[in-house]
Amino acid sequence: MISVEQAIQRILMDLKPLPPEAVPLSAALGRVLAEHARAPFDLPPFANSAMDGYAVLAADTANASHRDPRRLQVVGDIAAGAQALPELTRGQAARITTGAPLPPGADAVVPVEDTSDGGDMAGSRLAPQVDVLQPATPGAYVRRRGADVAAGSTAVEAGTLLRPAEIGLLAALGVAAPQVHRQPVVGVLSTGSELVSIDQPLGPGRVHDANGPALLAAVQAAGGRALSLGIAPDDPVAVAEALDRAVEQGVDLLLTSAGVSVGARDYVRTALERHGSLEFWKVNMRPGKPLAWGSYRRVPFFGLPGNPVSAQVGFEVFVRPALLRLAGARSLQIGRLAVRLLQPADSDGRESYLRARVRRSGGGFVAELTGEQGSGVSSSMVRANALLVLPAGVRRVEPGATLDALPLTGFWEQAG
Ligand code: AMP
Ligand code: MG
Repeated sequence: MISVEQAIQRILMDLKPLPPEAVPLSAALGRVLAEHARAPFDLPPFANSAMDGYAVLAADTANASHRDPRRLQVVGDIAAGAQALPELTRGQAARITTGAPLPPGADAVVPVEDTSDGGDMAGSRLAPQVDVLQPATPGAYVRRRGADVAAGSTAVEAGTLLRPAEIGLLAALGVAAPQVHRQPVVGVLSTGSELVSIDQPLGPGRVHDANGPALLAAVQAAGGRALSLGIAPDDPVAVAEALDRAVEQGVDLLLTSAGVSVGARDYVRTALERHGSLEFWKVNMRPGKPLAWGSYRRVPFFGLPGNPVSAQVGFEVFVRPALLRLAGARSLQIGRLAVRLLQPADSDGRESYLRARVRRSGGGFVAELTGEQGSGVSSSMVRANALLVLPAGVRRVEPGATLDALPLTGFWEQAG
C-alpha cells in the first residue's frame, strides 16, 4: 500500500497540461494562462495625475506654506481623457483630475487639499490663479508612463490561475482573448446496484446516488467541466459500457465512485484491468483507502471509494491536484493552514483526514471535530469547513497540538 504523498506524485507524473486555446476575456475566470502575457505597451500608457489638483513645475513650489503661498497662473483645465494639453512654463499651473495626462512642462501635481481651492473642487469654476500651500517634489503624485508594467515585460506569467485581478490587468493591456489551457472535461459515473437517481423513488434496499451530484459539484468548484455519466449497476458489462460512452465523448478524466474494494461485486478494477491499466488501488489513508488510479482506454481514471465522505475526501486530496495539473496551473496544491486542536483526536495510524470546523481565534486558527468520523457519516462533513491531517503513524493527538488543515470549498466564508 502506498502513501498519500507517493500516490499524489504518481498521479501528477502521469498527467500533462491540456493544450492551449484562446478564450474571450469574459470567459477566462478560473482558467490558467498557457503563455506569458507580455505588455504590448507601457502601463500607464502616458504620465498622468494620481490626484485631483494642479499640475505644476515643482521648482515653482519651493518652500510654499500656508503663510507664504506660491501664486501660480492657471493656464488650463485638464480632464481625464483630454487630448489637447497646455504647455506649462515657470509660474504656471493647470487644473487636473485623477488619471488625466500630465501636461508637457509639468513635473508634479499638488493635491487640491494643498491649494487655495481647499478640500473639494467638484463642480467649481476655474479661477485664473491658484495659491499653492505646500511644496511639491519632482514626480509627486505623478504616475510615470510604464511605472506599473513596462512595454515588453511579462505582465502575467504562464501557469497563473486567472482571477479578477489578472483579468483586470489583461484588459488594461488590451488582451481580448488570452491563451489558456483547455478546461478539463471530467466524466462522473456512480456505480452500485443499490443506487437510484434523485428523481426516482427509493425502493427497498435502495439509496439515492449522492456521489454523482457531489462529485459533479466538486469538479465545477475545482474549475473543471463536469459531465454526468449517470449510474451503472454492479455489472462489469454495464460499467464498461458507461465508460466507453464517456471515452467516445472525449472526456479528459474519468471519475467513478464505489466498486473499487474487495467486495464480491466490485467491478471497477476489473474494467481497468481489462481495458486499461491499474497503477494502484489502495492508499494508506483514512477515510478512503480503496482508491484506484490508472487509465481506461487511455483516459486517466480515478476510482473513488463509495462512501460519500470517502469519495469527497479522495477528491480533495487527489483529484483537485490532478485537475490543476490538467488545467496547466503552476501551483498544484491547495495551501494548508496550521491550526490548534481544541480536543483530543484519534487515528488508527493511517494518514487521517478528520472533518473539522476551523475558526479564527486569538490571531491564529483553532479547530474542533464536527462529530462522528465514520466514513458513512455525511452530516459531520456538512458541518466541516476543513479536513485536519493526522500524519501516518500518529495514533493520538492531545488538545493544544498544532495540525495542518486542508480548507474545503467555501472555507473563508465560514472561518470567521
Ligand atoms: P462500495 O464502495 O461499493 O463498497 O460502497 C460503499 C458504501 O458507499 C455502500 O454503503 C454504498 O451503498 C455507498 N455508496 C456507493 N456509491 C454511492 C453513491 N453514489 N451515493 C451514495 N452512497 C453510495
Ligand atoms: Mg458497492
